[in-house]
Amino acid sequence: MKKFIPIAYPDLTGNENIYLNRVLKSSWISSQGEYLIKFEQKFAEFIGCRYAVTTSNGTTALHLALTALGIGKGDEVIVPDLTFIASVNAITYCGARPVLCDVNRQSWQLDPKEIIKRINSRTKAIMAVHLYGIPANLDQIMDIANKYNLQVIEDAAEAHGALVKIKSLWKKVGSVGHVGCFSFYGNKIITTGEGGMVTTDAKQLAMRMRVLRDHGQKPGRRYYHPFIGFNYRLTNLQAAIGLAQLEKIHSFLKFKSRLASLYNRYLENTPGIIIPKTDYEAKPVCWLYSVIIDDPYPLTRDEVMEKLKNKGIETRPFFFPVNLLPPYKSSQKFPNSNYLFQHGLNLPSGYNLTPGEITFICQQIRDEIKN
Ligand SMILES: *Cc1c(COP(=O)(O)O)cnc(C)c1O
Repeated sequence: MKKFIPIAYPDLTGNENIYLNRVLKSSWISSQGEYLIKFEQKFAEFIGCRYAVTTSNGTTALHLALTALGIGKGDEVIVPDLTFIASVNAITYCGARPVLCDVNRQSWQLDPKEIIKRINSRTKAIMAVHLYGIPANLDQIMDIANKYNLQVIEDAAEAHGALVKIKSLWKKVGSVGHVGCFSFYGNKIITTGEGGMVTTDAKQLAMRMRVLRDHGQKPGRRYYHPFIGFNYRLTNLQAAIGLAQLEKIHSFLKFKSRLASLYNRYLENTPGIIIPKTDYEAKPVCWLYSVIIDDPYPLTRDEVMEKLKNKGIETRPFFFPVNLLPPYKSSQKFPNSNYLFQHGLNLPSGYNLTPGEITFICQQIRDEIKN
């Protein structure tokens, strides 16, 4: 049988089993329990912020955060055109308008110059996505937000543990904006199967999110709902997995960083294979190892995908630019996100990937140069 190398693969070999069994024995399997409390505390500690609020997934984390910030009808939120669709849909769910913004061609992240062009009296917030684990230019984005009095929502669903330098201080993404949103989907840096988290330093905001997450019920007054809330709760079962994952996040990030160095070593001098870079100080994490494929490389991105597929190697193209999707079709020009979509490729980055497999994958890519 031919070997199959998946794009992503979780590592569940820590305390997941022990903690899950404790939850089952305790019968606290729903949305209350000690693992929820511990997971939130430890995650806030890891990110370096005061409060962390678990949610049922990363999309509900974004929707909960936007709602708690008061984003609604008539408001505009600036969001990158190149992102996973959940970033944009969460804005639409609030009745607000997502304003698509082009990205920088080298960093793949929001372009601060393009942000400024889109600010008007209806603009309420900027959603800074840290795409493929690379921090957005938060130093400049925070300056813009302060100048125009805007909220900053960090979509850090792909960037747990990435660092940015803000006014000469290194900070984890998710601790810089007014809120940070994370996903624990199965292919993310740590997973709970499905799950999410919102991080913030603002006590009132954290309290509002806890109320909205639980049907808007007033704390201490059963079945009294002063707001229209949601059921966006995580379960104690999922939090048990999350805590076990979080205990190993430093070794996971080390694994990912070695994986990226190995790929870089083989690919960075291959003509037409382009690795992302930022002109601001940032320490990315490797969610999915990603490159751009362009001239003079002899194959197109799609041809590379086809070749690798035939060798049992799973890959993904970059996200579809939002401006080209039917619900968000736009006549504006997004040259960089459209370019990156055409040329961007995600390579296998799972926790089961071996150095030998990375060599094998890179050989398949480099072989074309000699031919
Ligand atoms: C995964 C992801 C989300 C959504 O997370 P889910 O847990 O799948 O709902 C949001 N934004 C980005 C950038 C993501 O990659």
